[in-house]
Amino acid sequence: MTHSRTIDPQSVPLLDIVGNNRPLHDEILSAIRDVFETGAFLHGPAVSELENSVAELVGSKHAIGCASGSDALLLALMALNIGAGDEVIVPSFTFFATASAVDRLGAKIVFVDIEPDTFNLDPAKVKAAITPHTKAIIPVHLFGRCANMTELQQISDEAGIRVIEDAAQAIGSDHAGCGAGAWGDVGCFSFYPTKNLGGCGDGGMLTTSDDNLAERLRLFAAHGMKPRYVHRVVGIASRLDTIQAAALCVKLKHLERWTESRRQNAVRYFNLFADSGLDGQIALPADDTNGKHIWNQYTIRVPSARRDALRSHLAEQRIASEIYYPIPLHQQECFRHVAVAPGSLLESERAAAEVLSLPIFPDLTLGEQQRVVEGIASYFAARKVSAA
Ligand SMILES: *Cc1c(COP(=O)(O)O)cnc(C)c1O
Repeated sequence: MTHSRTIDPQSVPLLDIVGNNRPLHDEILSAIRDVFETGAFLHGPAVSELENSVAELVGSKHAIGCASGSDALLLALMALNIGAGDEVIVPSFTFFATASAVDRLGAKIVFVDIEPDTFNLDPAKVKAAITPHTKAIIPVHLFGRCANMTELQQISDEAGIRVIEDAAQAIGSDHAGCGAGAWGDVGCFSFYPTKNLGGCGDGGMLTTSDDNLAERLRLFAAHGMKPRYVHRVVGIASRLDTIQAAALCVKLKHLERWTESRRQNAVRYFNLFADSGLDGQIALPADDTNGKHIWNQYTIRVPSARRDALRSHLAEQRIASEIYYPIPLHQQECFRHVAVAPGSLLESERAAAEVLSLPIFPDLTLGEQQRVVEGIASYFAARKVSAA
């Protein structure tokens, strides 16, 4: 298949959202037109259709639409009654929203370090961080690879604490036979346009198999109101627009195919890197040998002194790459009040200094992947020559 990239045909973009959506334009626009015909811009039939489909995909009993992945995290904490005096364990190497939800509710963020090979919470360090005040942990399935949920779930069960999965990057992934978002008390998903299932704007989803919790999540997402104008708790207004749900229902039918393409692209990278003569100069991401990695990102590690120069070298060849995430959350200005023991988050700091995410979107071609790998190899080859 040949592709002409939508912005610059000579470039290798990090993601091609326009190209990915283009074959579905007619179908998406007609689904959106149907919403106009009914006028049900909120609570329309497409919302429950998407909720049912996501629940089935994830393997949970309930799915509840909301306005974003960030709201999903906030609602999960609210529905579990987490607030002042409670501690919540989160990774520092993640997107901001994982931790901000905890802080916003007045609970205490407890940052725990990651495993270097998976970029996900280290179960042994989670166990060591649990105190009598610990109310929940939020494992993040970063880059589309599930955290070690077998151990994290066991630790949480033994300690009697709740598990909220931040599965924003992991829709359709699984580990040890259980889907992301079906392990914990609640799973949180995002339909931000760059996620594997991206909408035409913001959107989010919560999953749970607990009937009571499902009801509380719906209650908190709708002003805590039930019945109409009777407010039982102080909720928020967080809804998934019917227009978003309609577009997402169309796109969801293609998710499995897109995921397969991402997985094939990962295999191609492994093969291309194996033949590139780059041994030891960069570290490749680890696939999940006991689960399904869905490769929201393909993230390599580059020695920190070389990382930004390599990224510039690639940019000169019009090859896009990105740093997810350059600053661990415990070093963010807004989290200066969060106590951190010195040296306790070294892996998070090292990851922030070394990571580089490469293009892995579904329509990426073999030729484009060859350019990426050759671009990286040429950077290191030039350095060897100049060092000699
Ligand atoms: C995208 C993302 C979120 C937030 O989702 P939004 O829909 O953008 O609010 C939360 N956590 C992680 C790990 C994410 O990648």
